[in-house]
Amino acid sequence: MTLRSLVKYGAHGLHAPAARVETFDADLHKLIDDMIETMYAAPGIGLAAPQIGVALQICVIDLSVGKRGGQVLTVVNPEFIERDGMQLEEEGCLSVPGFSATVARPARVAVRAMDRDGVLRTIEGTGLLARALQHEIDHLEGRLFLDRLRGVKREIIVRKIRKLQRAGKW
Ligand SMILES: [Zn+2]
Repeated sequence: MTLRSLVKYGAHGLHAPAARVETFDADLHKLIDDMIETMYAAPGIGLAAPQIGVALQICVIDLSVGKRGGQVLTVVNPEFIERDGMQLEEEGCLSVPGFSATVARPARVAVRAMDRDGVLRTIEGTGLLARALQHEIDHLEGRLFLDRLRGVKREIIVRKIRKLQRAGKW
């Protein structure tokens, strides 16, 4: 397995929708294994393919934060089938290091997605799992948690990132 480098806010692929996966082969399995390894190393609770510069609808989630509990979820070509309720929690992103903000999200979701072999199943989640699924699926649509913030909160973070970019520190 290979650790992949993470791209950050401003990289084109993070702000554009990813394509559906059509081929479930050894190359795809290698890519998914690399994503899992990269997520554990970060460590993070989720990673989407656009975060390593691959424009495909794949994300991996493991709520154990790098403890390798074997509870890793691989989510390919996902679609929401249900979204209910509301939760307000602090959220960050490996592609926006050093920043976090309170983001409003539905409290419960059901997602229809394929696994690494292309088998369709339904994933239901509440609380942190619901949040992680939405955060990662947002990545597949070219959206970051910053894009979920209202008005000035988003502007303040974006302005700080631009400052870091100009200083060559991003
Ligand atoms: Zn993220």
